[in-house]
Amino acid sequence: PSTATKIQSALVIGGCGSLGHRTVEQLLKLEPTPQVAVFDIQTKINRIQDVNYYDVDITNKDQIYSALERSRPEVIFHTASPPAALSDLPLYMRVNVDGTRNLIECAKDLGVKAFVYTSSASVVHDSVSDMTDGDDSLPLLYLPDQTEIYSHSKAVADQLVLNANSTTPAGMLTSCIRPSMIFGEGDYVTGELVKRAAEGKYKWQIGDGKNECDWTFNENVIHAQFLAAEALLDARVHPPASDDMKVAGQGFLITNDEHISF
Ligand code: NAD
Repeated sequence: PSTATKIQSALVIGGCGSLGHRTVEQLLKLEPTPQVAVFDIQTKINRIQDVNYYDVDITNKDQIYSALERSRPEVIFHTASPPAALSDLPLYMRVNVDGTRNLIECAKDLGVKAFVYTSSASVVHDSVSDMTDGDDSLPLLYLPDQTEIYSHSKAVADQLVLNANSTTPAGMLTSCIRPSMIFGEGDYVTGELVKRAAEGKYKWQIGDGKNECDWTFNENVIHAQFLAAEALLDARVHPPASDDMKVAGQGFLITNDEHISF
């Protein structure tokens, strides 16, 4: 039999997006079922019954504070971000960095116990060099003056979240989940790739086609988010026996066993 979850109430930031919506669906399958709320700037799509949706822009601290006072979650899963391929550094910094800082400050004020941020594997990669079998000991990279402005903003936000980890178990404990490109039911990428292939639009290949590229199955990302939240809640009661077991204040690369070649 599966173990009962310790997550009694959860708030998914960006819960109407691709990963956030799947996270909400999976939360509702846990036993006993937690109370679930969502903050998003577009709450008209991907709605689920019995979930409380709040129109909240995380760049607006007042909006966050008042919706958080009403929803009162124990756990926050922060999955909101502008899409990755924009060339708008100010937007990324406003949403991913200032928005994340706003969330952390309000969450701490209102007694949230666990904060899990969906960061990205790109926070440890310069997007140019080869990297194989990278692990969680890799340092965060800051690349504001390069094309990787999305990754830069994710790295700054990732560090903010880790720095916000409380030194006492009674405070808010934090962790970062770092997936590679996400695929799986409900993703916005795979369908488009298949459609373009069917339309015969892939006519060129750059390089020898043997570059390896990491993708992460969305159910694995969600599983990792839940494991992190459970571990943070657990650490408040039973501090981990060794540093190896620590989840609070740590970031984790999430990947699949198999590499996919293009
Ligand atoms: P998505 O675009 O489908 O969902 C993001 C959600 O955030 C959207 O619903 C959007 O409305 C919301 N949002 C954007 N700005 C907001 C704001 N100011 N206030 C409140 N909500 C806001 O993205 P996704 O693919 O589901 O990605 C989820 C998370 O995972 C993101 O943080 C992303 O950086 C990270 N990530 C995604 C991938 C990937 O391949 N999709 C890979 C690694 C990491």
